Amino acid sequence: MESVLVLTHADETGSALTKASLEAVTAAKELAASLSASLTIGIVAVDPTTATAALASTQARLIAVSGEPFAQPRYATDAAACEALCRAAQATIVLAPASSRFARVAAGVAHRMGGSIDTHITALAVADCVQATRWFYRQRIEAVITRETRPWFLLLDAGTHAAFAAEPAPAQVEQILVTLPAIRTTVIGLRTPQSGAQADGASTQGWETIRPDAQLLLVAGAGWTKKQPDGQIHSAEAGDLILGFLRATGASLGSSKSLVDQGGEGQPVLPFLTHMNQVGQTGSTPRHAKGLSTCCHGEEPHVVGWRFIADRRAISLDPNCGWTRGKADVVYIADAFKVMAKVNALLGAAEK
Ligand SMILES: Cc1cc2nc3c(=O)[nH]c(=O)nc-3n(C[C@H](O)[C@H](O)[C@H](O)COP(=O)(O)OP(=O)(O)OC[C@H]3O[C@@H](n4cnc5c(N)ncnc54)[C@H](O)[C@@H]3O)c2cc1C
Repeated sequence: MESVLVLTHADETGSALTKASLEAVTAAKELAASLSASLTIGIVAVDPTTATAALASTQARLIAVSGEPFAQPRYATDAAACEALCRAAQATIVLAPASSRFARVAAGVAHRMGGSIDTHITALAVADCVQATRWFYRQRIEAVITRETRPWFLLLDAGTHAAFAAEPAPAQVEQILVTLPAIRTTVIGLRTPQSGAQADGASTQGWETIRPDAQLLLVAGAGWTKKQPDGQIHSAEAGDLILGFLRATGASLGSSKSLVDQGGEGQPVLPFLTHMNQVGQTGSTPRHAKGLSTCCHGEEPHVVGWRFIADRRAISLDPNCGWTRGKADVVYIADAFKVMAKVNALLGAAEK
């Protein structure tokens, strides 16, 4: 008989659960229902009151590790917290969001519990046993995994389940005590990569271009910095068009490898792009409802990063580009400079 535990943690407020945690709660509820198994939700938060209320309607057993030592992500305290929750729940299946906080400790906790772990899980199903799905070889091969070892830890990729949402209500939570190990790491603050920019490109601080939760992904390809029909390069105009679109839509910014690589080759580059923006085989595989590719050829090593983009569109001058070969839903064979200038003008008019 299986039993399910889902590990969750608070966001930077210290009390509300992260979106990825709430997605894991949805997955755990569905899995427990399919198995007719008991469900326990484990919470790691400075103060679990808000999280507990938000989870009241799940009818699950709620257990929490709380207090100031758990305010910051840190291997020793997070691993101890998760281990304590696992020992209290004694579940056979342990789900957790693949957040940087839990991805770091989950394998260690699985080892302490004598269990197994699989990561990058995108779907769960129940046939005659629990089946977990993940992609291999940069989203080219989809595999379904089963295991006999218990507890079986499964780290869920973000964006694969709807975030659990319900009216808050009073609920009971069991506090689980943790014997803290010696703490050698003091967290003194957070530093994030400077991937943002202002419209004039003058400052790259304070304005993030990578927005995993955005509805739309805009991808910039190397064509933006190539010679255009007038024989000239128009990088500054390209930067303005891209940033103008991001500002008007709240889209996230992705890039092809060729474009971000140019920075290291002394060619004109868009100053707000870093390798963090790269989408593809050696970049990221973001999950957005829609994607718009501009000035990008749509080669396989790039498009493999679009696996989870639902609606794909591309603007390319080349009618033989990869996008036209079945990789996009809609391809506009057009000059992206002109199209994006028009789109931005329409967006500006709509704002007024
Ligand atoms: C092992 C390996 C891993 C790789 N990993 C990745 C990866 O993770 N991500 C990735 O992106 N690539 C990756 N690549 C590289 C990939 O194969 C391509 O080289 C790269 O994606 C090309 O980038 P691009 O389409 O922006 O540039 P280009 O191939 O130079 O294409 C530019 C396009 O812009 C168009 N264009 C120019 N001007 C305009 C205009 N005004 N309007 C509209 N269109 C215009 C051109 O017609 C052209 O199609 C990898 C390659 C290898 C070998």
